[in-house]
Amino acid sequence: MAFDLDMIKKVYDNYGSRIAAARQVVGKPLTLTEKILYAHLWDGNATEAYKRGVTYVDFAPDRVAMQDATAQMALLQFMQAGRPTVAVPSTVHCDHLIQAKIGADEDLATANTQNKEVYDFLASVSNKYGIGFWKPGAGIIHQVVLENYAFPGGMMIGTDSHTPNAGGLGMIAIGVGGADACDVMAGLAWELKFPKLIGVKLTGKLSGWASAKDVILKVAGILTVKGGTGAIVEYFGEGARSLSATGKGTICNMGAEIGATTSIFGYDDKIATYLKGTEREEIAKLADRVKEHLTGDDEVYANPEKYFDQLIEIDLSALEPHVNGPFTPDMAWPISKFAAAVKEHGWPQTLEVGLIGSCTNSSYEDISRAASLAQQAVDKKLVAKAEFTITPGSELVRFTVERDGYLDTFEKIGGVVLANACGPCIGQWARHSDDSNRKNSIITSFNRNFKSRNDGNPNTHAFVASPEIVTALTVAGDLTFNPLTDTLTNSNGVQVRLDEPQGLEMPSKGFAVEDAGYQAPAEDGSKVSVIVDPNSARLQLLDPFKAWEGTDIKGLKLLIKAKGKCTTDHISMAGPWLKFRGHLDNISNNMLIGATNFFNDKADTVKNQLSGEYGAVPATARTYKAAGIGSIVVGDENYGEGSSREHAAMEPRHLGVRAILVKSFARIHETNLKKQGMLALTFADNNDYDKIREDDTIDITGLNDFAPGKPLNIVLHHVDGTSDTFQVNHTYNQQQIDWFKAGGALNIIRMNQKG
Ligand code: SF4
Repeated sequence: MAFDLDMIKKVYDNYGSRIAAARQVVGKPLTLTEKILYAHLWDGNATEAYKRGVTYVDFAPDRVAMQDATAQMALLQFMQAGRPTVAVPSTVHCDHLIQAKIGADEDLATANTQNKEVYDFLASVSNKYGIGFWKPGAGIIHQVVLENYAFPGGMMIGTDSHTPNAGGLGMIAIGVGGADACDVMAGLAWELKFPKLIGVKLTGKLSGWASAKDVILKVAGILTVKGGTGAIVEYFGEGARSLSATGKGTICNMGAEIGATTSIFGYDDKIATYLKGTEREEIAKLADRVKEHLTGDDEVYANPEKYFDQLIEIDLSALEPHVNGPFTPDMAWPISKFAAAVKEHGWPQTLEVGLIGSCTNSSYEDISRAASLAQQAVDKKLVAKAEFTITPGSELVRFTVERDGYLDTFEKIGGVVLANACGPCIGQWARHSDDSNRKNSIITSFNRNFKSRNDGNPNTHAFVASPEIVTALTVAGDLTFNPLTDTLTNSNGVQVRLDEPQGLEMPSKGFAVEDAGYQAPAEDGSKVSVIVDPNSARLQLLDPFKAWEGTDIKGLKLLIKAKGKCTTDHISMAGPWLKFRGHLDNISNNMLIGATNFFNDKADTVKNQLSGEYGAVPATARTYKAAGIGSIVVGDENYGEGSSREHAAMEPRHLGVRAILVKSFARIHETNLKKQGMLALTFADNNDYDKIREDDTIDITGLNDFAPGKPLNIVLHHVDGTSDTFQVNHTYNQQQIDWFKAGGALNIIRMNQKG
């Protein structure tokens, strides 16, 4: 058994008392979202949490899930915590590093060779610290989590943006950076800004060509890619209860595309059926006992406008299939309007490739409905005009749909079954194309369609739709085909129509699998060695950062005074650098290379105060570090906005930067800096930014009295012999000051383990 029944029992045992306590504070009916959040407060106290919208609240998640790309640094950091095992049940999933090129078997074999060092590390570190390990080929993180770990009313964090997929089973599941995952595995609280609440009331019932995917495609069109920011989206109503559990998962998964913190459905019969069908009947029984806590209060759903910050209503009976895109997932077109849009905008009408599957849409229901269309194509003598790929979300689904003949059906229309992995969805796609720059169109049942995401070609117009619509359009090879109304010419020259897709929510013979690809951790990991090749370019064990020296920090050199936008992408660029994400020293060669130097308006060109020459930012920082001199980075407004990537805080720390002084911080990055033992400071008076000169040597004073709410001082020593002094603010609480003094949060955890 992969899931942890005792942990789930404990969560449910606390539910009644925690929600009752929260009701006392809140004094009004509760949404499902609020119930789950209140049941997972770190200290069980709802008073602070109730100040929603303004308060950052500490939570105690039940689980952590990590995909292979982001798990590397999360686990390298976790090793620093000195714990024998992870504090909460955790899993690693090898899905992002497998390139789709020929087909499942060949591609998996290639990945196993190319990524051997990463897989060996992840397998051994998981084995040692009590982490469940899902091997390459086992499946995509979110589908595997849905099949094995998600449970109603639970709370999970995952190091991937589509972690909210588990909302389909009624779990609050949120995508985070590796540093947050590390904290929770190390036994610390997890901080979240208490979200806004968006309610989506679903009435009616899906029929015909419409599917769960069309619900989220429509919601994306309404809310746009930013509309869900800072909010949890809660679906409810008779329509919600009519959707399959995996359909609910699809909707929650793609909620990431509207920027939502996560999305969620309440526990119902469909979820119970799915739990039973995936050998988790015990969880369904436990959930039945607390089911009044696993849905919103009746009063909330009767008068939702009173309890949600925003309310959307969708009638599923009237919902049309949608196609969204290109280049953004919120450009939503009902299928009846799509052909005209293609022509009007001049998008390439010929469809070159249709891709179904991914973590978003590879349930048994999705595959069986798509296969019913493929079978019709065969029966009606239609030849698929576009290339067709199928990405199963897990080995459980792949094995089952193969047993039931669906993969054969896809192959009959030229379908190529890819490995159970992300593949084309994350750009791991060696697409066969005669010209990689040609304007062209593809359609997928994935979730993201930003420029270049799938095949790296900015001229690829990627559209997103349900697996059913993707399959129908693939057969037609034409984006303007509307399968609800149009006919196709078959190989006998006869006009034929595709009938509505048919499928099954769950396999009638049950799910089956020979080897799901799971490796349980050792009972006692103390003797297990973690495998890292000391010569690896992709992985490097971390050394603990040094503790504070106990004095004011003097003689820092200005490394860069950044001007304008400085996001985590400017600080730690992604793209080709991501292959080094498990090797701090190598990835540090991208540190701040995207930031604009205030003094010359150039990127990655700063003055080296020791040589007087201009050079790259990382190389300059390394020179100072080698000379035993610390440095400081100065920045503008909202420094560190963007992804929560912890590398953006670790790299400066590694290269000897002691402080980041800015006009304002993006909150997550500021916290990440504190965790790494850095000083994150803001100008008390933003005009002081102008006082900083290119040749300055800088002191930070007041550190012996470092205390919450008490400003520190900056002394600028200019080369002309003059100096400036001004105050700087900080937001460190006492615990964070302790992190600074110890050289980082993990150093404290490790000391506590020993002590
Ligand atoms: S299949 Fe796509 S969306 Fe899903 S986890 Fe992989 S890359 Fe992310």
